[in-house]
Amino acid sequence: MKLSTKLIHAGLEPDPSTGAIMTPIFQTSTYVQESPGVHKGYEYARTQNPTRHALQNALASIENGKYGLCFASGSAATDAVIKLLNPGDEVIAANDMYGGTYRMFTKIFQKYGLKFHFINMQDANEISKYINANTKLIWTETPTNPMMNITDIKAVASIAKPHNILLCVDNTFASPYLQNPLDLGADIVVHSATKYLGGHSDSVHGCLIMNDEKLNEQLAFIQNSTGAVPGPQDCFLILRGVKTLHVRMQRHCENGEKIARWLKKNPKVDKVFWCGFEDHPNHEIAKKQMRGFGGMMSFTLKDDSMEAAYKVLSSTKLFALAESLGGVESLIGHPASMTHASIPREERIKNGLVDSLIRLSVGIEDADDLIDDLANAIG
Ligand SMILES: *Cc1c(COP(=O)(O)O)cnc(C)c1O
Repeated sequence: MKLSTKLIHAGLEPDPSTGAIMTPIFQTSTYVQESPGVHKGYEYARTQNPTRHALQNALASIENGKYGLCFASGSAATDAVIKLLNPGDEVIAANDMYGGTYRMFTKIFQKYGLKFHFINMQDANEISKYINANTKLIWTETPTNPMMNITDIKAVASIAKPHNILLCVDNTFASPYLQNPLDLGADIVVHSATKYLGGHSDSVHGCLIMNDEKLNEQLAFIQNSTGAVPGPQDCFLILRGVKTLHVRMQRHCENGEKIARWLKKNPKVDKVFWCGFEDHPNHEIAKKQMRGFGGMMSFTLKDDSMEAAYKVLSSTKLFALAESLGGVESLIGHPASMTHASIPREERIKNGLVDSLIRLSVGIEDADDLIDDLANAIG
């Protein structure tokens, strides 16, 4: 079945009690049993909920995976993966990933005896230098946030496999419409469904998708034991959002390309980071593993000061100044003071995340209106 059809039909059955075509919001905490242990497969809503089940199945299917697990946020999904590990285990992670993931690894999990190596993953061969008998997980994100670097998922998987190291890919920026990491050899895909999957900036949600039955069992055990599950209303909203992922992503890609090319010609703009440019250092890999280049990009100003960035950030009218991304409406953000404020300044500048760096999540409005808005703000 093709993705557009799966997005609308996968994992969904009409409600057996009424025929409702939409999976109802099962707003219940428990389920009545006929006699002790005799029930319809549902006992308690932290463990099982029909709205969540429908979404888990739909997400598994659109990522070409066998199993899906939903969480209260992308961060809760990430947290569950790290809880697979034991003290003394080591993780190799990308050095320019989502700031909140970096914060969780360094501020929460380091103190439980896990060791994290943050490295540049654009050269997959770098990874081998950090592998030892304790390495249990490789964590990567592609395209990266906010520098739009690309990791070659297949190359990383081929390094991880012979050592039995799990490879987890944060696929939030690409969405399953543009990229399917499981097909490229990843073991686990993580999404902040808050972003493109939901697509309407109206709920916080996360998920994991995998193929391995044992891994699913372990992660479902963590999901149930630690309890960071989403409510049924949020599951319903993500299910509804997913149905239009393909049409939204088509427009995100079209608008993204128009805006990236326009920014590149603007005399006040210094660099534009978007993986669709032919001269992007990882463009060939992006072309190979993605079906399009999306609506996420960042750029720097020739005047590399906080003030110059602040002027642009506070002057746009359509691009709303806000954290998050992937919604139908366009957002503008300042990684240095917003999403990536928890990364020390020297650390972020080393990775190109300078003071004037501005990130755009290009929405699905009319591209000409968006360009006019940026033209006015950049001046
Ligand atoms: C937002 C985001 C997360 C965290 O997800 P939440 O739903 O906000 O907890 C993780 N990874 C990436 C790439 C993100 O953009």
